[in-house]
Amino acid sequence: MKTHPRFERRSWAEPWKVKIVEPIKMTSRADRERAIAEAGYNTFLLRSEDVYIDLLTDSGTNAMSDRQWAGMMLGDEAYAGSRNFYNLERAVREYYGYRHVVPTHQGRGAEHILSQMLIRQGDYVPGNMYFTTTRHHQELAGGTFVDIVIPEAHEPANEHPFKGNIDLGALERLIAQVGARKIPYICLAATVNMAGGQPISMANTRAVRELALHHGIPIFLDGTRAVENAYFIQQREEGYGGKSIAAILKEFCSYTDGCTMSGKKDALVNIGGWLALNDDKLFEEARNLVVVYEGLHTYGGLAGRDMEAMAIGIAESVQQDHIRARIGQVEYLGRKLIDWGIPIVRPIGGHAVYLDAKAFYPHLTQDQFPAQALAAELYIDSGVRAMERGIVSAGRDKATGAQRYPKLELVRLTIPRRVYTQAHMDVTAESVAEVYDGREAARGLTMVYEPRYLRFFQARFERA
Ligand SMILES: *Cc1c(COP(=O)(O)O)cnc(C)c1O
Repeated sequence: MKTHPRFERRSWAEPWKVKIVEPIKMTSRADRERAIAEAGYNTFLLRSEDVYIDLLTDSGTNAMSDRQWAGMMLGDEAYAGSRNFYNLERAVREYYGYRHVVPTHQGRGAEHILSQMLIRQGDYVPGNMYFTTTRHHQELAGGTFVDIVIPEAHEPANEHPFKGNIDLGALERLIAQVGARKIPYICLAATVNMAGGQPISMANTRAVRELALHHGIPIFLDGTRAVENAYFIQQREEGYGGKSIAAILKEFCSYTDGCTMSGKKDALVNIGGWLALNDDKLFEEARNLVVVYEGLHTYGGLAGRDMEAMAIGIAESVQQDHIRARIGQVEYLGRKLIDWGIPIVRPIGGHAVYLDAKAFYPHLTQDQFPAQALAAELYIDSGVRAMERGIVSAGRDKATGAQRYPKLELVRLTIPRRVYTQAHMDVTAESVAEVYDGREAARGLTMVYEPRYLRFFQARFERA
């Protein structure tokens, strides 16, 4: 008797069930044409109620668990010494391994404090590819960001398993050129958002640590998606297959001196962040500065309930079932697009699928904002909201004011954690395919309003 091959492998499903639903609205194509024109062809300027599936960002868009919501009711809203602060501190110490914790309202609050404490006018801050707010705070403090990510990170089709790795040669050359004293710290991002959510390996991190120790340069981690990075290490790096996410995360952080953190990503909350430090003196200073910019050092701009939800979220984030389903969903969407021959950044990243806008629209020059145009087309087709990560996000050179031309011109389909189902991923994939089929007719955009800082948030465009 012949057995029928019903499926190649068994399916898996989300490790949660739905308890509360939030209705979303479907709109007509005419509605969307109007809405995106009113928004100046910038998806950041759309109203959320005009969006069907919102893949703008995974930042603060997480669905909290029933445990986290229960934690919200345990908020201790004392001005000083809130019980929830100590719970947060305990969670960061337990899972990330740092000694001191300063809560901040979100990641950039921590970046601000770290940059102000360590960077002096004329310093250089090397990092594995820039992130918008991180670089901006480094520059405001008088520093110059230097990209030392491996060259493979700039090639969308390159299948390197750790495209977030640091180019050790480039780091050595920078140290030789400007001197270790001009480098206040190395900024290590895991995963690398702008490269497509690409991880950095444990071996590379260890090697960076050795080199940095040799020159007396500290390392600060952008720990925003370090849990996702730990999952890739577990899946791809020899010797880590049998280790838990929690163990990998802790080892990873042990090669760094502290971290800035946006809790709005890995830590499964809607608002919150922290600065973690091992050095006692630096902690004293950070604790002092946070009072000026965020709030007292036991709340840092957060309500007690927010800190409680984040403490619980940290513990949930390192659970194997959670992280496998989270990254598995991104993989599911990316696989579909790859199977249909649609150009995306490879390998598929941890938090998002990145469409290669240069490959979509080879007839448009980068000055015609191909990724911005592609994000607008996708919204018009289906109400799926994505984000530009190309020339608009890259902005202008700090010194000359000249337009930066990044190698990568991408549209990011960012998947919020625990929010959408596989069916939403199917709808999204089909819309991308539809837009891809109509690619030859696509036109570029012209920028008609350019804000001075972080222009991608508020810039306005018109159809060329
Ligand atoms: C979001 C993000 C930040 C900034 O955090 P916010 O909470 O948005 O202020 C920093 N680094 C990376 C890699 C991020 O994705």
